[in-house]
Amino acid sequence: MKKKTTNTRKILKEIKLTGIPTSPGIAMGPIYIFRPFQLNISELEGEVEDVEREIVLFDNAIEKVYRQLENAQRNSETYYKDQFSEIFESQKAFLRDPVLINEIKQEIRTAKCSAAFAISKILSEKSEYFINLESTYFRERAYDIIDLKQKLVNALLGIDVDYQLSTPAIVVAEMLSPSDTVNFNRNFILGFLTDKGGRTSHAAIMARGLRIPAVVNRYNLSQVLHEDDFLILDGFSGAIIINPTEETKREYEAKQKDFQAFEQRLYKEIDAETVTVDGAKIELLANIEFVHEVNDARINKAEGIGLFRTESFFIEKNAIPDEEQQFHFYKQVVEQMNGHEVTIRVLDLGGDKLLPQQSEEGELNPFLGWRAIRFLLDRPAIFRTQLRAILRASAFGNVKILIPMISSVEEVKKTLQLVEEAKASLRTEKQAFKEDIEIGVMIETPAAAMMAKILAEYVDFFSIGTNDLTQYVLAIDRTNEKVSKYFNTFNPAVLYFVENTIRIGKKKNLKVTLCGEFASIPEAIPLLLGMGLRSFSMNPFSLPGAKKIIRSLKIPECEQLYQKIKTMHTATEIEKACYQFVKNHISDLQYLK
Ligand code: PEP
Ligand code: MG
Repeated sequence: MKKKTTNTRKILKEIKLTGIPTSPGIAMGPIYIFRPFQLNISELEGEVEDVEREIVLFDNAIEKVYRQLENAQRNSETYYKDQFSEIFESQKAFLRDPVLINEIKQEIRTAKCSAAFAISKILSEKSEYFINLESTYFRERAYDIIDLKQKLVNALLGIDVDYQLSTPAIVVAEMLSPSDTVNFNRNFILGFLTDKGGRTSHAAIMARGLRIPAVVNRYNLSQVLHEDDFLILDGFSGAIIINPTEETKREYEAKQKDFQAFEQRLYKEIDAETVTVDGAKIELLANIEFVHEVNDARINKAEGIGLFRTESFFIEKNAIPDEEQQFHFYKQVVEQMNGHEVTIRVLDLGGDKLLPQQSEEGELNPFLGWRAIRFLLDRPAIFRTQLRAILRASAFGNVKILIPMISSVEEVKKTLQLVEEAKASLRTEKQAFKEDIEIGVMIETPAAAMMAKILAEYVDFFSIGTNDLTQYVLAIDRTNEKVSKYFNTFNPAVLYFVENTIRIGKKKNLKVTLCGEFASIPEAIPLLLGMGLRSFSMNPFSLPGAKKIIRSLKIPECEQLYQKIKTMHTATEIEKACYQFVKNHISDLQYLK
């Protein structure tokens, strides 16, 4: 149900605000304010007479919302194949979670409250919990829970939400759920402006998949804007312009045309080989966390998956999935990649990615604590299960195993031993797996980078994780906003370790991939090529831009750039020199973010 807005307000003059860009592109047009019915929880309070009736109503609401999700999923699959199916699957699984269902029923019985009140209370507590976690990923999963709460309460109160969009418009909402996103008519959506969410929220992931510009604002604009306002959204810079002047409109129309032409050029070259002007072949791989992202990797022509992060699957399940569940999860990705490389990283829990029980235990310095391989070696049963599941999935394609957070040879030796044991158990059970599966380590601690030469004797490949390497070399918490201005991978100390790893890999004939965010930064690409890197793994949507940059460079020029920056002392100088270098080769660099 959409609330009617009144037309008593004067149209605001041009207002320029800045939000967080979550999906690239420029959107311009009238707005459609989407306000699914909101209810104050206190309105639902009070004892009910017939508790068992509330239980039946609750069961019915679950079924109704489940069917709504199935319909939304079908709707989505008609247009977008299985691109977003996994998102709906996870929401549906949430509705079938017996622990959650019992918790809500328990609340109805003990508090003698209505089903709607119990749902609001329990799901609000859960979303609050997620919102307060350090990890952005979990903060944004909280919006899925809020969405389900809304849907269940609406189902109980008989409220239908209106997705009618009969003319092109920018959808403005407090937040959007995955089903909201696909329930609108795609042909009429110009852009999304929401008050909540971030780059990794499901709505943002889907907006990028659908190539719809999106921006998140922090000004509650869904409560401020009127249906008669006109809006410009800049999905590159995050600019939000309310009721622009004619001059601003012309400026953005030109930008929009420019970007569309740029995208067309970019996607025309999408099938071209990734080679430098002088013919050096460069490998471009994708980083993913979920099955639906394989599609993103494929449309952006990744040659394989260079980093398949597995921890989010565990955290989303809120538990340790068993071997069958894991096997099924990995196998889907491996099969969909059709024989192309899939490098599966074993659990990197800890730091800002915690299972609820871990976060309860608490650590003073979680990034220096019980994280990744340290956790796994202390929990061999969990590690064995994951290794067996990955090994079984390896029978279906080209799988490699990657070990995170290595800081000693002992950790590598123990892991190799556990892999051998997992292989032996599978052989006994006559289960198929890839006998010669490659095993590599993340180079993301200073210790690993210093010991690259030694580690090379034990493993088959290296993957440089510049996100953590920067954090640990510079001693800067990667999640702390207060020190984020010091977090710079262009710092010569970090670059020293990166180059050392690449050089040793080359000498020892080991493949080196760089899978941290640095791989997709336009100004970093020539520098890394100059250091000798030939394999990059990144967010799938950055791949076409990276290809364009690579195809406009010559290796000897990149090597000269690297020689030049070696004489520089500060990150600022280095970054500037690299930026200038790329700018000289690519005129429309502003769109490659
Ligand atoms: C890294 O540290 O650079 C990396 C790729 O791993 P994550 O971001 O998952 O820690
Ligand atoms: Mg890391």
